[in-house]
Amino acid sequence: MLDDNCSRRAYSDTKRVWGSEFVEVTTALLSVGHRFRPGRAIVPTSITVHNTGNPRSTAANERAWLDNPVNLNSGNFASWHYVLDETNIIQAIPDFEMAYHAESGNAASIGVEICESGNQHVVWRRAVLFVVSLLRRHGFGAEQVRTHRDWTGKNCPRLILPEWARFMRDIRLELGEQPSFANVPIEMNGETREFPGFMASGRSFVPTRMLLEQLGYAVSWDENTGRVVIDREILQVTTASERWVGRQL
Ligand SMILES: [Zn+2]
Repeated sequence: MLDDNCSRRAYSDTKRVWGSEFVEVTTALLSVGHRFRPGRAIVPTSITVHNTGNPRSTAANERAWLDNPVNLNSGNFASWHYVLDETNIIQAIPDFEMAYHAESGNAASIGVEICESGNQHVVWRRAVLFVVSLLRRHGFGAEQVRTHRDWTGKNCPRLILPEWARFMRDIRLELGEQPSFANVPIEMNGETREFPGFMASGRSFVPTRMLLEQLGYAVSWDENTGRVVIDREILQVTTASERWVGRQL
């Protein structure tokens, strides 16, 4: 945790907007020679995502932590390139210098700490946009995003790991990569059927006609009105769907 002296510390901030109104970075670099800024040049080949492990700290708190004498004298080495919360992104170490965040990953990975405080839906969205902006700056693709766990086995980023597939899907969508087409399993009245479709932004998309006809509806296209027409009257005569209809009714 932090003391007030640290959290009130004033930086000579420079704010830069990286292609999105949500991605504004405050540069507050550790001083040259700082214990947590070894000054070793790296050529980054990946981005490593972390959670701070502290449910209450903000980005400013995390930045102050790096200058807190208690932590500097603790014998441990810990730092990162960027920290992000629901309102701020702060950079502490240049992209092309090593930070202490992921053991073997330190040699070639940019560390991004995601705060656990604040509205986590907002934090999630900002994290996606920021990681994408970093990927673009370095010419990376989504496959160059790593977790702290990938390097060391640690349960980090602990809040995002349970939904890592969704996080990466959001990143791919934001990068403009194609959503992944796959059969979407849907349980209908206790039986699982698979429909051709895709997942995007945490939602499953399947063709309307295919799904509704299985439920006994008639689906047609009205050229005069330019509308999809879903008709329930057909229920009793759609033999192919009777087993669904029977249970539905
Ligand atoms: Zn971590």
